[in-house]
Amino acid sequence: MRTTLRGKLHSDRGVNRLVAIMATLLAVLVLAALYPTYRLYKRHADEAGCLAAMKKAQDMLDVEYLSNYSLTLEEAQAVVERSKWEMDTVCPAGGDSHLVLREDSEQIYRIVCGLHDPDTRERTRLNALSAYEQLKTSLYEAKRRGREAPETVTVTLNGRAFTIERQSEPNELRYGTDSSTGYKGTVSYYSVDEEENLFWFVYADPNHAAVWRAEDSRVIRVGWSGDAFSD
Ligand SMILES: [Zn+2]
Repeated sequence: MRTTLRGKLHSDRGVNRLVAIMATLLAVLVLAALYPTYRLYKRHADEAGCLAAMKKAQDMLDVEYLSNYSLTLEEAQAVVERSKWEMDTVCPAGGDSHLVLREDSEQIYRIVCGLHDPDTRERTRLNALSAYEQLKTSLYEAKRRGREAPETVTVTLNGRAFTIERQSEPNELRYGTDSSTGYKGTVSYYSVDEEENLFWFVYADPNHAAVWRAEDSRVIRVGWSGDAFSD
């Protein structure tokens, strides 16, 4: 009798375990089905949170400027740091915040998020410039140590690691990654000359491309071009 009861208990436990496994599987399936919705929701929430925080930081910058009609870059950076401290962070998704001068003024700064600013050209220009500056530092370091320019250089862009690949010759990438060239997403490449000096750099996201060329007898353009820079 006792054995039968124990057997029954065992069998109940077996059923319970099966129910538990089924429930877990169901929960995993539900979560998996909801994940894209959650991602979309999170993206919208981050964007809304960022734009609200940027607006507050911008208000703080404007107030600071209006209090004495003057604002240096250092003072503007201090205001952004204060706004980050007051709001914990400016961009919830980790986007870099950049300060750019308004076209009509040499002292009125506009704060731009590298991930969420509505001006996609400005975003491409600033992200490209940030990647380029970090690349230059890496190449300078490599040269100083007597090393060759590396095959790949990893930089930090909007809180994430981003890889720039070296190519022997400049490629044809010019007008954003969804063009006929077949590149997808955000990509970046660079080339160096015989003396290991950077002479070509491209950064292209799905919206625009930014190309930098050094003064060189082999090329016509000098400085920045690409559709992020054309009007
Ligand atoms: Zn942002």
